[in-house]
Amino acid sequence: MSEDRKGQLAIFGGKPTFPKPLHVGVPNLGDRERLYARIDGILDHRVLTNRGPLVMEFEERIADLVGVRHCIAMCNGTVALEIVTRALEFEHEVITPSMTFIATAHALQWQRITPVFCDIAPGGHHLDPARIKDLVTPRSSGILPVNLWGRPCNIDTIMSVAGHYELPVVFDSAHAFGCSYKGKMIGGFGTAEVFSFHATKFINSFEGGAVVTDDDDLAEKVRLMQNFGFEGRDSVVHVGINGKMTEIEAAMGLTSLESMPAFVEHNRQNYAAYRDGLHRVPGIRLIEYDEREHCNFQYIVIELDECISSVTCAQMLDILAAENIDARRYFYPGCHRMEPYRSYFPNAGMLLPNTENLLGKVLTLPTGTSVSVEQVEKITGLIARVIESGRSVGLRLRAMSGRREYSIDSACEA
Ligand SMILES: *Cc1c(COP(=O)(O)O)cnc(C)c1O
Repeated sequence: MSEDRKGQLAIFGGKPTFPKPLHVGVPNLGDRERLYARIDGILDHRVLTNRGPLVMEFEERIADLVGVRHCIAMCNGTVALEIVTRALEFEHEVITPSMTFIATAHALQWQRITPVFCDIAPGGHHLDPARIKDLVTPRSSGILPVNLWGRPCNIDTIMSVAGHYELPVVFDSAHAFGCSYKGKMIGGFGTAEVFSFHATKFINSFEGGAVVTDDDDLAEKVRLMQNFGFEGRDSVVHVGINGKMTEIEAAMGLTSLESMPAFVEHNRQNYAAYRDGLHRVPGIRLIEYDEREHCNFQYIVIELDECISSVTCAQMLDILAAENIDARRYFYPGCHRMEPYRSYFPNAGMLLPNTENLLGKVLTLPTGTSVSVEQVEKITGLIARVIESGRSVGLRLRAMSGRREYSIDSACEA
């Protein structure tokens, strides 16, 4: 059986599906003219930072959108996490998932707080509230769950377990700006929540983040700590750091916010195209959004069951990369398998079977306003084609390379 090169997958020498790479997390951009006008205003007023008018407006807009009393805009989400957990006097141990971007764990470890990794729920992607009780010790000082992929975690149950142990909860909602849980906007839960406005996130301010809370005292303390502890011009009342957002970042953030409905609609259409294109493909499970809630649809996440597809995650990643589809294995191999955590807790994986299982099969696919529905249709068509001939593609790739990641899990034979 000889296929001509034209019909070949690019990894076997065919022509790539796309002439240039499609990436995950290409920034969503708002209206350029509005941005330029704001930047002109900044230069005219010569207020570049230190909570200028644009940062104040940005904070107000975020607080309004989320429905909280306070928003403190920050230079990034990581520093926002560090400052709010420090303001709450988190110490010793904090319970958090390993299934997250490394910044969640680092924000704790940077302060010499140990992230105690909690497994995710079976079949899910989020912290399993049922596992928290096994990890609570006299040294526990808080819980830091993650609203991963803009999908809320099991907030009600987490809050009730946290209440039982009297542990404060801060949510890492870096992915979840514009999303809701049981009709209430993410940002209004726990003691505080943290957003990221990094370039790759749904709404971006180049770099940026925010702490949102209804707690007046906490808000005041966070505000002091993000500005060196300055209370007045010559009065420092607390140890602090520089966590401020600049005016140009706020200009970008405000401009992005104005396009939020358009971003959501674009992402939603891409998501619908992915769903339509993948729902009949064996071995692929698209992680769905609950469309009764507000969603930002910013992450297209699939689970690949290699026992059904006969193609491993690593193979699919390489097949897609050859086609100029730059999929990502977020957040492989898990925080617990990265330094310094891997050295500190070499056996952490034993307590994280669901996390490890999931990380072996998750892929994140390109979406966002730089990706069109037509491109999504090509991506899903290609994935369907790969899986249609999964067994022969898998075998051929294994013959080309003996990489360990190319062998199908022996459990599939069972
Ligand atoms: C992006 C991200 C952060 C960090 O935000 P930055 O603004 O990049 O510092 C924290 N947690 C999660 C889950 C993230 O995805």
